[in-house]
Amino acid sequence: MSVLDLPQPAWMSEDLVLLSDSARRFFLEECAPHYERWEAQGSVDRDIWLKAGQTGLLGAEVPEAYGGPGGSFAHDAVITCEANRAGIDGWGGPLHNAIVVPYIVHYGSEEQKQRWLPRLVSGELIGAIAMTEPGAGSDLQAVRTTAKRDGNHYLINGAKTFITNGQLANLIVVVTKTDPAAGARGTSLFVVETDEIDGFRRGRSLDKIGLKANDTSELFFEDVRVPGDALLGAQEGQGFVQLMQQLPQERLLIAIYAMARIERALTVTLDYVKSRKVFGQPVIEFQNSQFELAECKSEATVAKVFVDHCIERHLQGRLDTATASMAKYWVTDLQCKIIDRCLQLHGGYGYMNEYPIARMYRDARVERIYGGTNEIMKVLIARTL
Ligand SMILES: Cc1cc2nc3c(=O)[nH]c(=O)nc-3n(C[C@H](O)[C@H](O)[C@H](O)COP(=O)(O)OP(=O)(O)OC[C@H]3O[C@@H](n4cnc5c(N)ncnc54)[C@H](O)[C@@H]3O)c2cc1C
Repeated sequence: MSVLDLPQPAWMSEDLVLLSDSARRFFLEECAPHYERWEAQGSVDRDIWLKAGQTGLLGAEVPEAYGGPGGSFAHDAVITCEANRAGIDGWGGPLHNAIVVPYIVHYGSEEQKQRWLPRLVSGELIGAIAMTEPGAGSDLQAVRTTAKRDGNHYLINGAKTFITNGQLANLIVVVTKTDPAAGARGTSLFVVETDEIDGFRRGRSLDKIGLKANDTSELFFEDVRVPGDALLGAQEGQGFVQLMQQLPQERLLIAIYAMARIERALTVTLDYVKSRKVFGQPVIEFQNSQFELAECKSEATVAKVFVDHCIERHLQGRLDTATASMAKYWVTDLQCKIIDRCLQLHGGYGYMNEYPIARMYRDARVERIYGGTNEIMKVLIARTL
């Protein structure tokens, strides 16, 4: 189903092909018809999470012992790719699946896994990760949210912002300082179930230029009392290492979003330039259109080969931080360039919201910012020089 003439990547097995068919059907039939309404209301419907759970699109990496399908990141990659190829960019499922769930799979105790994973698979729990604060974005060590021991409990205090799934999430991985004087070594992650918890408040759903169907929000924690076993990891102070271990997967995931959207941009633009006539001929007949699309297709093909290479390496446990950062920075930059060129080929219609390329133009921009800005990606790559 790709506009690129590449063979199936080696990591794509038979069961992944079946998964991609059922994911595509789900996004086209259950999500696409509602997408405009979701954009207007600023979030997807709560029940789409339960339907995604019933269709087997949540928690692919969760082992069977905890109610999951026992898949791998390859399953997450396929689901993410299909969601974005179908234009369901604002649904926070990929973040839930490939960013939040792995923290519990990798660092949760047996009891924590049993408590949370089955409900993350069913969609009863919607995940979010709260790292960013008004004063701490790129510089994660500057986090000021604290978690102080209080007997068998911790008291969490602080404010987070820009949190994806912030209005709907009811399981939030919160980055805190258990020892503010200890720098990175004083960072700890807590899993906070927010249903019926005192002191937790959601702020505004933020007014963004794109990804309008996602409920990106501020979150406030005022003396939120969580049990000691909400801490992720056997002891305090492991949070920074846990984040550093998981961030390559997050960055690869964003490169996969971007790659799928590049394919979608080329698909919708090819359809458009073949049907729109100017000076009595379809826009595709102008040599400029052909050259523009030939360049875009070439660059997209190079990008796809690299993204598949990164997926392969990640599945073998060999994707390093710098290579994941290259994928995130380069493919998200390329996405913005290609979508801009595709929009230009639509003429004035490209600027009209009813054309998919217009929304893609708005939605794509954030990818160069979140998950670590592209400048931070270059800082990480530069460390290997
Ligand atoms: C729609 C959206 C969804 C998001 N979802 C989440 C989420 O779910 N969870 C979460 O925790 N966060 C989330 N974020 C936050 C996102 O990760 C941060 O916005 C991002 O990391 C940048 O931080 P900042 O906005 O504070 O920018 P700043 O850190 O203030 O950066 C400002 C500028 O300075 C540059 N800069 C900073 N440091 C350096 C440096 N060392 N060298 C060169 N340039 C530098 C940056 O690249 C940028 O251009 C989301 C953001 C958005 C917009």
